[in-house]
Amino acid sequence: MFAVEKDTDRVQWHAHSAEKAIEHLDTRHDGLTHDEAADRLKQYGRNVAAAPAQRGWLARLAAQFHNILIYVLIGAALVTAALGHWIDTAVIALVVIINALIGFIQEGKAESAMDAIRSMLAPEAMVRRNGQRETISATEVVPGDILILEPGGRISADVRIATARGLSIDESALTGESVPVEKTGAQVDSEAALGDRHGMAYAGTLVATGEGTGIVVATADRTELGQVTEMLASVENVTTPLLRRLNRLGKQLSVIILAVSAITAVAGVVLHGFSAVEMFMAAVGLAVAAIPEGLPAIMTITLALGVQRLARRNAIIRRLPAVETLGSITVICSDKTGTLTRNEMTVQEVAIANGSEQRLGEAVSLCSDATVSVNKDDSLKISGDPMEAALLVYAQTLGLEPNALRQAHPRLEGIPFDSTHRYMASLHDINGEHRLVVKGAPEAVVPRCQGIDEDEWHRKAEAMAERGLRLLAVAERIVSHDDFKMDLDHQPEDLTLLGLVAIIDPPREEAIKAVAACRRAGIRVKMITGDHAHTAAAIGQQLGLEDTGRGVTGAELDALSDADFSAKAGQASVFARVSPAHKLRLVKALQANGEIVAMTGDGVNDAPALKRADVGVAMGQQGTDAAREASEVVLADDNFATIAAAIREGRVIYDNIVKSILFMLPTNAAQSLILVAAVFIGLTLPITPPQILWVNMITAVTLALALAFEPAEEGVMGRAPRAADGPLIPKGMGSRLILVACTMVIGTMAIFLWERSQGAELAEARTLAVNTLVLFEVWYLFSARRLHQSSFNLSGVLGNRYVPMAGVFIILAQIAFTYAPPMQFLFDTHSLGVREWILAILVSLPVIAVAEGHKWWQRKRLPMPKSGNEQP
Ligand code: ATP
Repeated sequence: MFAVEKDTDRVQWHAHSAEKAIEHLDTRHDGLTHDEAADRLKQYGRNVAAAPAQRGWLARLAAQFHNILIYVLIGAALVTAALGHWIDTAVIALVVIINALIGFIQEGKAESAMDAIRSMLAPEAMVRRNGQRETISATEVVPGDILILEPGGRISADVRIATARGLSIDESALTGESVPVEKTGAQVDSEAALGDRHGMAYAGTLVATGEGTGIVVATADRTELGQVTEMLASVENVTTPLLRRLNRLGKQLSVIILAVSAITAVAGVVLHGFSAVEMFMAAVGLAVAAIPEGLPAIMTITLALGVQRLARRNAIIRRLPAVETLGSITVICSDKTGTLTRNEMTVQEVAIANGSEQRLGEAVSLCSDATVSVNKDDSLKISGDPMEAALLVYAQTLGLEPNALRQAHPRLEGIPFDSTHRYMASLHDINGEHRLVVKGAPEAVVPRCQGIDEDEWHRKAEAMAERGLRLLAVAERIVSHDDFKMDLDHQPEDLTLLGLVAIIDPPREEAIKAVAACRRAGIRVKMITGDHAHTAAAIGQQLGLEDTGRGVTGAELDALSDADFSAKAGQASVFARVSPAHKLRLVKALQANGEIVAMTGDGVNDAPALKRADVGVAMGQQGTDAAREASEVVLADDNFATIAAAIREGRVIYDNIVKSILFMLPTNAAQSLILVAAVFIGLTLPITPPQILWVNMITAVTLALALAFEPAEEGVMGRAPRAADGPLIPKGMGSRLILVACTMVIGTMAIFLWERSQGAELAEARTLAVNTLVLFEVWYLFSARRLHQSSFNLSGVLGNRYVPMAGVFIILAQIAFTYAPPMQFLFDTHSLGVREWILAILVSLPVIAVAEGHKWWQRKRLPMPKSGNEQP
């Protein structure tokens, strides 16, 4: 039916008119039909770029070995092999391989989690098909489609601009130029540079202001950007500050460990005359035992699990470091409409100034972009702004048909709504008469009206706003079209006020609970809205915000000095009639006061504030692509409660990472200190180097890994936010680590010496020492599950099934280690009797008392705030 030339890519579209493009691409201003679009999709393929080359599994596996801790281990394996100590070589090699495999599997899981998240952020496009606006997946855009360009939207294909109203586009993705370029639709010289093509808009660029339409001329790889993948809201896969700190710690530890090992070996030879080879093997065992080689894998899985849990809770993490920052947020600055409120709007009251209610209904029908239609099951299908949809539903109750009305009288000119000027204007030809209709915030519209008592209408508006109602003033004017011009330089004046419309949008139940949870967690919630101050303050009170007062308006903020502004930013909770520029100033002021700020936003103008905030939070449903790209977190459900849930999850993730570190450090230290102590004292080694390697191998990744699955500790949302630049090891924990490590070393050495003094054979005493050390670690794992709270309760024992699973696995492995003949041969172990096992349990169990006693002492010293029901 149509014959689109295959050589469309070579046409210099910018040097042709839009009409030419329409003709050439065999399309129409009201869009393709669905059949045509489906045919073209078959012909041209999906609007996606070829997937970027994936790292092969071999490369991913190899990357697991690229780690300083692993290098040291590989070095040790080579040296032991050279010396012919094959058992040691094999065990070290096993440690390295198991560790790499776990890292490899976990990384694969983390990557598929990130992929799933990427697909949750799949871009959409607004097109006109069959004469109707439709939102489709950006991958289904085809040449000939009419793309609708709106502020904040990312353009999904190359288009020849057909209409443009105040349109400007940020082409930095393509040209690097960050100042938006004005787009008029004008035809330019075929030689014009990319940035000078006023008639074109390119895939991957963002609409900065205005609105327009464009004819799609190229999709997928045929676009200028070529690489359409970059259009996909990217989820960056970077490391986090915590991981960087851990890496640094790992390097420092390796140096210290190597130094201590060397000194120990030399001391053994010099002080006690041990053989050099024996001491060398001890040094290798010591180094391997001390190195926390499992830590990187554990960090990755803890973060990946957390990101998955967050996604299940509708919070999509775009930048991994945000996971950590979430846990230290002290202030949340949230939008009101749709985030704290339900965004289920209903017109509740109108006040007529001039004309009839019918006339007002007509005006709001014409001056809206939303559409409302009836689904098969009689429910309403709303697309576009919910407030406009409420107006259309209201118009229908007056017997009007908004869709038919708009089709009969299409918009001739218009000024789109913007949260800076806060109104929208639209010009229509109605039976030969040009009617200009305006709707917007009363403060923006009433002063543009004539022949009314402005004060009286402002008073009426305030009275409605105090009841938490959202307000719109509606006005009109009959103009003579010939000399009429309308844009932001020629704004509508001399209007006739038709009346006020008051709309109810109640707070979300779950937001009220989440606000309370945040307050208990030491996080202040501030509402930042474009709405009326009285409306905002009333909603703020219903939500339970602190000090709502009467709300601070943007105009009042403008009048403040910098110092007063900063004080106000800290103290007030409701900011009304603010523009996106105020949001940026507020973030900066709060940060200057030392706060860690989460800021929500949806519009293109919110991007600077979102970028500046410690955690920018974009709305997944109502938000623009520009806001999403500036943010760290995207809320799939636009719901405030999700932010509170994400903060809670962020705290849990951080806690779990800290718990793994706090588990690994003293256990690894104890494993190696036993050898150091024995060598310095001049004792027979209570545990041989191969045995210590075994302990390290079976405990390193099993026990600590279980902590990655740890659920939230009671009171996570009952304590103050963690200081963002605080130490890696929380205050007061250092002493616990030392106590625990010493208990393990002393207990293990003591049981070995006692057994020897009772006449036990060396192999038997050593086997007992190894089992005692492993039991120490198992008991300590139960205690390490809670940072602050006691582990002596049901959830402390059973709360994480991976912990008992890891415990059982280890004990089975120890039974094999003790009794299986091949193991006895390899590791020089000896069967133990019941008496020995009881002894091992009796000696190791007290580590729980030591760790729990330390917690108890700390809880007494630093009392923590009590929390009630903290689930946000
Ligand atoms: P929030 O920032 O919390 O989402 P908001 O949605 O109330 O708040 P804006 O969208 O900036 O903030 O709206 C500010 C005011 O502009 C509203 O109170 C309303 O009076 C007016 N307004 C909002 N949307 C439109 C629209 N589509 N057309 C005309 N006026 C509007």
